[in-house]
Amino acid sequence: MILCAEILLLVFGCSAQEIEVNIKKISSSPAIVRVEGRFLQENLTQSNKNLAFASSVGNVENLGTRISDLNLTDKQGRAITFKKLIEGEYLTEDEANAWSYQVNLSTLPNEKALAHVSWATDEQGILMLGDLLPQFVAQDNQPISAKIKFELPKDWKILSSEKSMEENTFFVNNIEKAVFLIGKNWRESKVTIGNTTLNFAIGGKWNFTDAEAFEMAGEIFEEYRKQFGEIPTEKAQISLVHFPKEIKFGRWEAETRGANLTILSSDMPFKTLSLQHLHEQLRHEIFHFWIPNNLALTGNYNWFYEGFTVYQSLKTAVKTNRIRFEDFLDTLSQAYNLDNFQSRKVSLIEGAKNRWSGANSQVYSRGMIVAFLCDVALLHKSKGKRSINDIFRQVLNKYRLPNKLQEGNTAILNILGSYSELQPIIEKYIKGMEKINWQTDLEDAGIEAEETDFTTKFIVKTKLNGRQKDLLDKLGYNNWRKILKK
Ligand SMILES: [Zn+2]
Repeated sequence: MILCAEILLLVFGCSAQEIEVNIKKISSSPAIVRVEGRFLQENLTQSNKNLAFASSVGNVENLGTRISDLNLTDKQGRAITFKKLIEGEYLTEDEANAWSYQVNLSTLPNEKALAHVSWATDEQGILMLGDLLPQFVAQDNQPISAKIKFELPKDWKILSSEKSMEENTFFVNNIEKAVFLIGKNWRESKVTIGNTTLNFAIGGKWNFTDAEAFEMAGEIFEEYRKQFGEIPTEKAQISLVHFPKEIKFGRWEAETRGANLTILSSDMPFKTLSLQHLHEQLRHEIFHFWIPNNLALTGNYNWFYEGFTVYQSLKTAVKTNRIRFEDFLDTLSQAYNLDNFQSRKVSLIEGAKNRWSGANSQVYSRGMIVAFLCDVALLHKSKGKRSINDIFRQVLNKYRLPNKLQEGNTAILNILGSYSELQPIIEKYIKGMEKINWQTDLEDAGIEAEETDFTTKFIVKTKLNGRQKDLLDKLGYNNWRKILKK
């Protein structure tokens, strides 16, 4: 096997104060990085006696086993003894000022992990400080900043939305959110939309051109900018790369962390499908720049920020003529069937607590249906003047960063609950476990269902009254006609 050239990753301590550089060395196959760092600021963290690395990220477990060769020193450079409690967690005799260790970055067997944790091959990799650095908690709970220097093989690039200080050196505002792409063969472009610059990097060959992908990202960002009426960030990084191993058609996994969007995907067999696939990925993930990444909300409220994102992304697909209205209804029917087939019903609030367990798909599918019902109820009550867009704008207005952190479920339910027409939806479907009753909830939209073999398919009624026609029009039913006219 070809050895990966040496990668050196230097971590300077945090904050704006003076720092000392420690050199870390990496090899090879397996890809291993050596990380060295030290604190620049006294009493930066709550306790330096407990040094722990992320043990899990999302559904990826046992990350601690990737850490080895730990050395700790105090301010005078004397070695500090420590005890290993479990893999990746150590109790030290004294407060450590500097640390060094190795991280094994071999790709994990579960390809779903690769959008969420650091990995490297001999060609490229993704480094996320969230799992590469110990889990420090600042005394005031504020984000911890750092100066990060990389030493990579000569022909390797480093791409990131973090502030570049000098060659291969970055100032990172918040170590939890920082993501770096490293490797050869990245192709990049800057996509400018108003005050925002999207750095879009693509690795590998795809059935679409780079230019098509760059343009698409810009169009989607612009569409959401209009929907929200504001931008979430002036600089963002989008990275699209193949899984580092053969994966069958159509699979993808993505994460949007802060202003860093990482998509790992397999391609589709034809260009049209391939473009459609990319559009779906970008539609969903770019939405996350606003919700939840620009929100000062905590806790498990992903029934909202995932379920409602899936819905809005779907609605935007109709609006931008990527899918037909029938496809929109088909996707909602599938989500309904999925929710309906759940043998163990849990409320969205409960389900969201177990995002990475089996309840995950339920959060997405039920959350999506609930978003649809909210949209219909808002449009109906306001005679088309209000929609789910107003909810998104309101959430952002009230809870945008850097406001004080608030609990997500309470915050969102407060806003939804301020509309009388949404209260029954909250009680029955968000807090409650009731079966979605489309017969009553979708009547206002002129949508009915065909039931065959226990599966439900939503269709538009043949006879519609004026208000139903208006509401369907707002949902995008006649969108293709409007685009044809243009
Ligand atoms: Zn998502």
